[in-house]
Amino acid sequence: MSGYLFVAGLETHVELQTKSKIFCACSTGFGAEPNTHCCPVCTGEPGSLPVINREVLAYAVRAGLATNCAISEITKMDRKNYVYPDLPKAYQISQFEAPVAVGGYITLDSGKKIRINHIHMEEDAGKLVHENGYTYVDYNRGGVPLIEIVSEPDIASVEEAREYVEKLQLIMRHIGVSDCKMQEGSMRCDVNISVHREGEPLGTRAEIKNMNSLSFMEKALSYEYRRQCELLDNGERVVQETRRYNENTQTTESMRNKEDAQDYRYFPEPDILAIRVGKEFVKKIAESLPKLPDELRKEFAGYGLSETEVKRLVEYKRIADFYSEAAALSEPKIAANLILGEIFRGMQTEEEKERFELKFDVKAFAKLVNLRAENKINAGIQKKVLQKMLESGGAPEDYLSADDLAEVDTGAIDKLCAEAIKSNERAVRDYLGGKEQALKALLGFVMKATRGKADSAAVEAKLKELICK
Ligand SMILES: [Zn+2]
Repeated sequence: MSGYLFVAGLETHVELQTKSKIFCACSTGFGAEPNTHCCPVCTGEPGSLPVINREVLAYAVRAGLATNCAISEITKMDRKNYVYPDLPKAYQISQFEAPVAVGGYITLDSGKKIRINHIHMEEDAGKLVHENGYTYVDYNRGGVPLIEIVSEPDIASVEEAREYVEKLQLIMRHIGVSDCKMQEGSMRCDVNISVHREGEPLGTRAEIKNMNSLSFMEKALSYEYRRQCELLDNGERVVQETRRYNENTQTTESMRNKEDAQDYRYFPEPDILAIRVGKEFVKKIAESLPKLPDELRKEFAGYGLSETEVKRLVEYKRIADFYSEAAALSEPKIAANLILGEIFRGMQTEEEKERFELKFDVKAFAKLVNLRAENKINAGIQKKVLQKMLESGGAPEDYLSADDLAEVDTGAIDKLCAEAIKSNERAVRDYLGGKEQALKALLGFVMKATRGKADSAAVEAKLKELICK
């Protein structure tokens, strides 16, 4: 089964965070009582007429610009016909002929570009709930706005697929169009995958649907790649079909033959006029875009942070914004250490990091960082003050006594170090004998004498220097 190339293209559905649905004023809120966020429009009752939500268009344009797409001057809605209980109209209003954005790309860390064919807007369908042998329909989700981001088949490995989805997820979160939570369904990926030998035409593709986490997607793609290679090796054919990933057996299984576009009998939606997307409208949105994740990563890496540190700071929009501002106002390395250390310690869950609620503002934080950068306080005092600020808010000066701020002059520290060495002969011997720990006793002596104000790293260096002289 070696020698086959992996070819995949992704269709990523992203649920938009607008307050109301795409064609009516119903709420998009998640987790409400079934069938309470519904009206004649989103349940497709006869005589009801859809009106497009302007905000949905703005979000779709935002997503298009952030993924390097061109925005269409004229965009149109189409009907995609299919029958399923989650769709009472028996058609979904989507886009086929003139999607809102076309021809973008996402750049992977390797520099490779994964091209985006287009982004289109559409309505979500309702949800089937299977319980006690019955199936119920909840139409709350029907009409919730989605964009579908369709990539070209440029993805050449499972790793590239994961990186592409992660990048897309991060971009959508940073530009504020979606929370992209795969486990809650606000981001869903369908993958078209095929295999072929180099120099030969592309193989027949299978589509895998319903993957609700990145790790499932990786497992499903690895399995599907193996399955297709084995079929070809055995002289069999890959069938064009839609498959689903079974979490229990960790395999993919056939759902149905895959439809082609003509099976859906797309035709222009007669109830909604074509939309002219004004240049001024697009320009305003472009100007309101925040710094994108890749740009932030470059900025943070420029401060000499490690790759992991950068990644953790960029992962959540609010943290990235806070850090970006703090780093501009203070010493970036110390600021990063405090956020990733002390502040993260109090934020265990993803939700807490997402909200990043602090009782103090970035200016107060920068002030605390600078006090340390200018050697006015030591690391221990800084930590204590930060802890108090985390608990009760305020600014560093609210918690610093004159004593904390009084500088300990280096002459005095040198003298104390000499004294420590003189009165702890045994510790000195132990240290010289290879017991690194023995130095702590000497350090403790100096720190106690300065009531914790001395810079412990500097004291340690001085002690070593004096001992080894
Ligand atoms: Zn409605």
